[in-house]
Amino acid sequence: MNQYVLLTGGAGYIGSHTALCLVRAGYNVISFDNYSNSSPEALKRVEQLSGKKIITITGDIRDQAALTAVFSQYSISAVVHFAGLKAVGESTELPLHYYDNNVAGTVTLCRVMRHFNVKKLVFSSSATVYGDAKEVPIKETSARSATNPYGQSKLMIELILEDLVKAEPDWSIALLRYFNPVGADSSGQIGEDPNGIPNNLMPFISQVAVGKREQLSVFGNDYPTPDGTGVRDYIHVVDLALGHLKALEYLEQHKGIEAINLGTGVGYSVLDMVNAFSTTNQVAVPYKISARRPGDIASCYAEPSKAKTLLGWQTEKTLEDMVRDTWRWQSQNPNGYQS
Ligand code: NAD
Ligand code: UDP
Repeated sequence: MNQYVLLTGGAGYIGSHTALCLVRAGYNVISFDNYSNSSPEALKRVEQLSGKKIITITGDIRDQAALTAVFSQYSISAVVHFAGLKAVGESTELPLHYYDNNVAGTVTLCRVMRHFNVKKLVFSSSATVYGDAKEVPIKETSARSATNPYGQSKLMIELILEDLVKAEPDWSIALLRYFNPVGADSSGQIGEDPNGIPNNLMPFISQVAVGKREQLSVFGNDYPTPDGTGVRDYIHVVDLALGHLKALEYLEQHKGIEAINLGTGVGYSVLDMVNAFSTTNQVAVPYKISARRPGDIASCYAEPSKAKTLLGWQTEKTLEDMVRDTWRWQSQNPNGYQS
């Protein structure tokens, strides 16, 4: 009987790139997604790029019966759990919706996994669980805190999964703490396709460059950073996808739970990103300096050595790769998957 890896939220930005990476590595992949923030077109393109079939199921992780049906029909060896809502601002307006979708959804997923004795789980956590870290680069042992319901939901899920492993030590769980995913597959066929006005820097820059938005607002230039603008650890989504493959391999051999940073270890400022984008792609990115965005921190980048030691993984892509691949996707698909 064929073994499958189940990707919840497999049609999303990181899920679709990971699906491509996994099918190319020989895994059979099932995506389970309610398309609340994605399009079925993404995985059709993954199939075209890879020449491999992906089983796509429309469903919600809060729907225990729908998940049970999937686990009954297919032999699933591991789950990579991307499904979740991720907009910080929206989460402060709709906290119950975020806790229900992210936290309750994860509990339901784990309950079904447990019922079918599937105990290998890769969870999409986030550097947001470090809150405003006292020290950079940030180690996995750094204190955790959160300042908004999105961050709280990630932190709560980490705590729930830790308790689960305490109670049932035969689980194998990786909490992958992503820093700032950017970029796209080098084909330009799949990429990040945000709904409405982008919250994140890179999609905003690329929508300005393509003429969909007039100018970028740089949120503050008075932070204690080299040029005064916020510093983040941008990681190419193809490197990030590979991190999931390595985590699945690791979980084959190890029980217990590990939190692992996935980042480059290098911080770039907002202006570094704007300059790299316009220089590499020879395209203008008009911007103005505006007020700080409430809740933003000055600087956040990873100490990435645990991923190297444990998973044998480190990033390969450069800043130029990130901005070039973002632009290829954006310029070829100015309206995302609706183009
Ligand atoms: P995304 O919105 O593109 O993908 C999430 C996918 O999950 C979407 O396809 C969405 O339709 C689906 N989904 C949401 N709720 C669902 C539900 N209840 N049932 C089934 N499917 C559901 O986001 P992404 O950028 O690919 O992020 C993937 C994961 O990584 C998320 O959990 C996110 O919080 C986490 N993460 C993302 C970032 C980032 O900056 N992109 C950073 C850190 C962590
Ligand atoms: N940022 C900005 N203008 C924007 C969006 C983001 O100046 O339109 C800045 C933001 O203040 C932060 C950095 O870009 O310093 C990365 O922001 P993003 O929302 O992408 O990631 P996060 O803050 O969640 O790490």
